[in-house]
Amino acid sequence: MQPTQGKLHLGNLEGALRNWVKLQEEYDMFACIVDWHALTTMIERPEEITENSFGVAVDYLAAGLDPEKTVIFIQSQVKEHAELYLLFSMVTPLGWLERVPTFKEKRDSLTAGAEASHGLLGYPVLQAADILLYRPYGVPVGKDQVPHLELTREIARRFNYLYGDTLPEIANVLSDIPVMIGLDGRKMSKSYDNAIYIADSDDETAKKIMSAYTDPKKIRKDDPGHPEGCAVFSLHSVYNRENADNVEKECRAGARGCVSCKRECIESVITNLAPMRERRAELVKDPGQVFRVLEQGADRARAVAGETMADVRKSMGLL
Ligand code: AMP
Repeated sequence: MQPTQGKLHLGNLEGALRNWVKLQEEYDMFACIVDWHALTTMIERPEEITENSFGVAVDYLAAGLDPEKTVIFIQSQVKEHAELYLLFSMVTPLGWLERVPTFKEKRDSLTAGAEASHGLLGYPVLQAADILLYRPYGVPVGKDQVPHLELTREIARRFNYLYGDTLPEIANVLSDIPVMIGLDGRKMSKSYDNAIYIADSDDETAKKIMSAYTDPKKIRKDDPGHPEGCAVFSLHSVYNRENADNVEKECRAGARGCVSCKRECIESVITNLAPMRERRAELVKDPGQVFRVLEQGADRARAVAGETMADVRKSMGLL
């Protein structure tokens, strides 16, 4: 996850993080906070990134990542990421990067006159290094990351073709909720200002859900509604799973008003997030404990990354 903000939203949680918490019971997991990636869009205020990284680590731990089972660390503390990025940048054709949809989107959203940086274009190459340094079976991500993972596979294939079998063919590991809808009906994203955060208070959560987008054709309580595309229904389907079928039926039949539907939704979201929010409040009281987790994580990550780099250099015949 990128620390462009010091907090994660429910898209990050349901698309990726909650899956990591489950997977750590069965797999050795590496959970990286990619602070160098955040520089691609925060070059004017790099000083915010350290504090943001701390906030992301707090959310990881609050959500249930266990530092005994999962290696939790900050990318910039393991310099091997930069070395592998450099070597990969030599084997990656420019055309592959120019075609990446998120590059085009980000380039087009830059303020008028601003030019896209080399770092923005090279973002998926750094991501390939972040992944392949740990030679994993797979990468648990939300659906929006699938094109990037394809590029990681292509870079690994090209590297192996040029220098012999060194890097694995990684798998996409998607969660049950590959895309979480935001309060305006679009994908939940920090850049759309449509997100609910783990760090939000219950009151903030309630206010956000009360103002969420619903079916515009449903004006009166007894008008039949269309749950598909309704931001509130999408929250019901995640946080009120047992009753979601009933919510859908009542909405379609015009037997449920949006206001009471939102109240029920608020109750489920708040109840579901309560244990996480309590843990979060405890963790921020003891930053030393969080920084220790990150330091120990970086030591463990460095050991694995060092072995991969030794093999990579050997394959390429470098010193
Ligand atoms: P980001 O920091 O935005 O690059 O995202 C970090 C992780 O959260 C990635 O695995 C994304 O796929 C996932 N993610 C972000 N937004 C959503 C969303 N709205 N729905 C599902 N997964 C998401």
